[in-house]
Amino acid sequence: MECPEGHSHHIHKNGHRKGKQNYICVKCGRQFIEEYQHRGYSDDVKRNCLKMYVNGIGFRGRERITGVSRTTIMD
Ligand SMILES: [Zn+2]
Repeated sequence: MECPEGHSHHIHKNGHRKGKQNYICVKCGRQFIEEYQHRGYSDDVKRNCLKMYVNGIGFRGRERITGVSRTTIMD
C-alpha cells in the first residue's frame, strides 16, 4: 500500500468507509480506500488532463473570437 499521490508508503489505517478499509497518508493527509487506489488515481489524472485540454481549447477559441470581433469593430 502507498499514497495514491506517490508520496510515501507511510500510511495509517483510518477507520472504514462504506464497509471498506480507509487509509490516510501521513505525509499529505490524503485519505483513500484500499480498493479504489489504482483505478482512482489514473481516473483522476485522465480527468485532469481532459479538463486542461478542454479549457485550453475553450480559452484559445474565445481569444480568437474576441480578437476577430475586436478587429471587425475597429474596421
Ligand atoms: Zn501522500
